[in-house]
Amino acid sequence: MKLFNLRGGVHPEGRKDLSADIPVRVLPLPKLLFVPLQQHIGAPATPVVNVGDHVLKGQLIAAAQGTVSSAIHAPTSGVIVGLGDHAAPHPSGLPVPTITLESDGNDAWITTETVTDPFALSAEDIAARVAAAGIVGLGGATFPAALKLNLSRNSGVQTLIMNGGECEPYLTCDDRIMRERALEIVEGIRLIALAVAAKEVLVGIEDNKPEAIAAMQSAVKGSEVKVVAMPSMYPMGSEKQIIQVLTGKEIPAGGRPADIGVLVHNVATAFAVQQAIRYSRPLLSRIVTVSGGAIKAACNVEALVGTPVQELIDFAGGYSQPAARLVLGGPMMGQQFSNTNVPVVKGTSGVLALTSQEIGQAEASPCIRCSTCVRACPVGLLPLEMAAHIRISNLAGAVTLGLKDCISCGSCSYVCPAHIPLVHYFNYAKGDLATQERAKLKQEATKKLAEARNERIARIERERAEAAAKRKAARAAKEAAAAAAKAEVV
Ligand code: SF4
Ligand code: SF4
Repeated sequence: MKLFNLRGGVHPEGRKDLSADIPVRVLPLPKLLFVPLQQHIGAPATPVVNVGDHVLKGQLIAAAQGTVSSAIHAPTSGVIVGLGDHAAPHPSGLPVPTITLESDGNDAWITTETVTDPFALSAEDIAARVAAAGIVGLGGATFPAALKLNLSRNSGVQTLIMNGGECEPYLTCDDRIMRERALEIVEGIRLIALAVAAKEVLVGIEDNKPEAIAAMQSAVKGSEVKVVAMPSMYPMGSEKQIIQVLTGKEIPAGGRPADIGVLVHNVATAFAVQQAIRYSRPLLSRIVTVSGGAIKAACNVEALVGTPVQELIDFAGGYSQPAARLVLGGPMMGQQFSNTNVPVVKGTSGVLALTSQEIGQAEASPCIRCSTCVRACPVGLLPLEMAAHIRISNLAGAVTLGLKDCISCGSCSYVCPAHIPLVHYFNYAKGDLATQERAKLKQEATKKLAEARNERIARIERERAEAAAKRKAARAAKEAAAAAAKAEVV
């Protein structure tokens, strides 16, 4: 199959060998699970349990709130011991609303049904079951998967791309799931294709995962699904880039894949879809890579959502040397964290403990205008110019240069010989923009409320005046009639 060129991109050291060849092991059941209500893009889920309730594994504990949201289920059986705040898996580590579940050690499931012919289900039914299972994009985006299915079906998607790129260094969770669960993944892919009526189904896998490619090629035999080996390059696993390489199409600025007839899902999401449709199992766990030079025995573990990250580090033998940086996700786009009591959430692909040699913290020096960052940018932006605008607080200027199209891949920072943390500028500026946009929306909503209130007051006053005028007219008519009657008598 013809592949198209990826613009820009970099070749960071992969370090995937640390964990790639070790089969996935299931993490022992934790005693306490901290399940945040917000593990997805959109509105947080609303708890449907109370402290003291006993729940079964897979039972709904928080319902989706509105269209863009996702349901959350009990990762194991036990008792709800807290509905409060717990440290979030976020650089701030600030507490977020969380359901705390104390495991009863039985891991007892709710009653589930097995669907013998899932391909007999309608597209709407598949999407409804995916929504009920609380599935979100497991590649890191955490967009509610059912919503993506419905939007794609309605906009007439032609091509379904399954992302097995996993271009982030260190991460091997997608590699392992493809090697170990290829048949289930392919069934999930075919169900997604059915749900969106896709005409073409491609699975893109970087060519540094030959075992995963072989496993998936064997699993797709006799189906409409095609496995495509792609060159290994960062950020190949990013949505825009995988579409560009496999189809030659580019998402217009500010647009979505559906605008060009494409839907992209991650291979681990396909596994979750298969489990939900075939066995009615909600999304309760995920495979997480535990790696980095400071981890004693790097590995991949299947961890329940809500498991404290420290338990994964302990399971991997703890630290072999001091960790200079802890990261959730990959080293290029992941988030630094410091509190290891934060929980694994649906979007946690990796827990990395990196040494000071691995992060190589060099002092930033002035820009030498070498344009290396421009050549590395996969979106075709001008990182040095955008950063210059942000430095003088000219956000509008940075937006004009394409700040909103920046995918925060960090390729520009990675290659910068002056070690300028360009991507930090962009993330900071995007955070600022989001705050400004939220404030603007709030201001507009307040203005509308005030206008509606003023209109209501004016209407009430108008109605009162009209009623008073009517009463006055009626009184005048009555008095006139009385006067006329009196005059007649006289
Ligand atoms: S790579 Fe760094 S030094 Fe070179 S132009 Fe970009 S910001 Fe400047
Ligand atoms: S972080 Fe943004 S500007 Fe830098 S290379 Fe990636 S897309 Fe381009």
